[in-house]
Amino acid sequence: MLEVKGLEVSYGSIKALHGVSLKVPEKSIVTLIGANGAGKSTTLRAISGLINVRGGSVTYDGQDITNLAAHQLVARGLCHVPEGRMVFANLTVDENLRMGAYLRNDKTGIAEDVDYCFHIFPRLKERLTQAAGTMSGGEQQMLAIARALMSKPRCLMLDEPSLGIAPMLVRSIFEQIVAINKERGITVLLVEQNANLALQVSQYGYVLETGSVLLEDTSESLRKN
Ligand code: ATP
Repeated sequence: MLEVKGLEVSYGSIKALHGVSLKVPEKSIVTLIGANGAGKSTTLRAISGLINVRGGSVTYDGQDITNLAAHQLVARGLCHVPEGRMVFANLTVDENLRMGAYLRNDKTGIAEDVDYCFHIFPRLKERLTQAAGTMSGGEQQMLAIARALMSKPRCLMLDEPSLGIAPMLVRSIFEQIVAINKERGITVLLVEQNANLALQVSQYGYVLETGSVLLEDTSESLRKN
């Protein structure tokens, strides 16, 4: 569904990605793991059109999407949940969810998807009128994922959903990521530093080190390695 070939990205004179290649089959969960600064977020940002790709290509659904703008990708069903969540802090939970559906006008479908978000993250329903910025990190992460679901994605890219979140909530968020993949058939590209957890929920994994893929294998084999 998503294929990255020889991706090269630089920040000024600093090269952050040196020809990264990876494949994400439809309806799978694929993880990209690696230490701080390995280039995981840069890879997602390049796929999403948030930074310029200097070399290589990104193909989605058989079409070249290299350097397309983020809003064009959301319209095609490719949605990015950024590191640090980036919820609209001054808007309520309800308003954040509706912002996720910004490109849609099917009222019934939107209402159904709001219900589905409450089904997977019941806590959001309890906090509907609360300003998103006043919620805990874990709750904001739930909201960021739910907001992305409101765009009706077919492929979801999640950047470090476990970052800065209480361990109990992390497990529950990962269970819901698996549920979203199974129940809705949404393909997931998951970026994580928590390798053990990411390899438990994914089928295939890539290990990034200083801007290059060091290792790739089934998640089961990577876990044993
Ligand atoms: P982390 O988990 O810490 O976010 P990461 O694997 O996602 O790490 P990136 O954030 O993609 O890594 O960073 C890859 C490299 O690019 C690092 O060397 C980083 O310092 C550099 N980099 C990232 N963003 C910028 C920027 N805006 N300007 C300059 N260099 C950057």
